[in-house]
Amino acid sequence: MDRKQFIKASVVTAGAGILLGSCNNQTATTQDITSLIQKKYNWKMVTTWPPNFPVLGEACQLFADWVDQMSLGQMKIKVYGAGELIPGLEVFDAVSSGAAEMGNGAAYYWAGKSPATQFFAAVPFGMNAQQMNAWIYSGGGLALWQELYKKFGLIAFPAGNTTMQMGGWFNKEINTIDDFKGLKMRIPGLGGKVLTKAGGTAVLSSGNEIYTNLERGVIDATEWIGPYHDYVMGFHKIAKYYYSPGWHEPGSVLENMFNLKEFEALPAHLKVILETASARMNLWVISEFEAKNNEYLNKIKAEKGVELRKFSPEILQILKKYTDEVLHEMAATDAFTKKVYDSFNTFRNDIKSWAAYSEKLYHEL
Ligand code: CA
Repeated sequence: MDRKQFIKASVVTAGAGILLGSCNNQTATTQDITSLIQKKYNWKMVTTWPPNFPVLGEACQLFADWVDQMSLGQMKIKVYGAGELIPGLEVFDAVSSGAAEMGNGAAYYWAGKSPATQFFAAVPFGMNAQQMNAWIYSGGGLALWQELYKKFGLIAFPAGNTTMQMGGWFNKEINTIDDFKGLKMRIPGLGGKVLTKAGGTAVLSSGNEIYTNLERGVIDATEWIGPYHDYVMGFHKIAKYYYSPGWHEPGSVLENMFNLKEFEALPAHLKVILETASARMNLWVISEFEAKNNEYLNKIKAEKGVELRKFSPEILQILKKYTDEVLHEMAATDAFTKKVYDSFNTFRNDIKSWAAYSEKLYHEL
């Protein structure tokens, strides 16, 4: 065999290897390939987002379209918004039980299953989108995430990131840490626990209640996402101060989860398609957030009666100290959570020194 023939043969064998999902060197026959693509898959994707929710819901439909196109129509995925098939917060259980083959959400919604899930979405003073991708894809995060989800019959891949969120909407100035005392704020999860340590009250309000609660004074303040989604919610009409940064959610990861049995039963090329489409979704969501947040922050700045404010470094330092306490208490819950905390924390501390010599200096220009 000469060099040209060798290259030609290698290409054919490599392609067939993917289709057959095997590492052997058998060349796939037309019959093999036909039988592999003959079986059709009609899957359900349940999500934690309201139907057609900007960016997050849109991304789910794009994912389904990409999978359809890449698989030449072999795999069709029907996307369900929260409440259409099951309530949003039942996604994890529905995919775990196989009632739906896949789901999309954010891992911190499943803190009740294991506190460790929160590290795969966001923790206060955690990492930004770029650093979370670095930890997950290249720093051991994904292996831990999949180890955890395997216990529930699931496999997950990152599929988006809300990027740096905003600190929230307030009707009074936050000049010192004492200004949080007695403040009723809609801020979920670990951010809420940190607020409680600062003397505030964390209030849970679902998305559709926040505006009315803030308008009526049931809550004094709220966080939501970033300028794009916050503008759509209209918070600038009823709150005076828009604070930055979103110390509690610096880079919340979104997830695609699959029922492990269903995923494992797929031919290898469909597994690769699902994983690849998830990665494209991750990139698309990050890019959308970055572009739209910039555009809508300018709109908010142009609104009369809204002032942009920054939390002072002193306030952020104290919130960070409370966060360290909260995370430390959480890590003591069980051995696996401690293992994830250690991996996350080591990576976060290490990457900070790289950021100090790269992005940080650059952004100060
Ligand atoms: Ca948020």
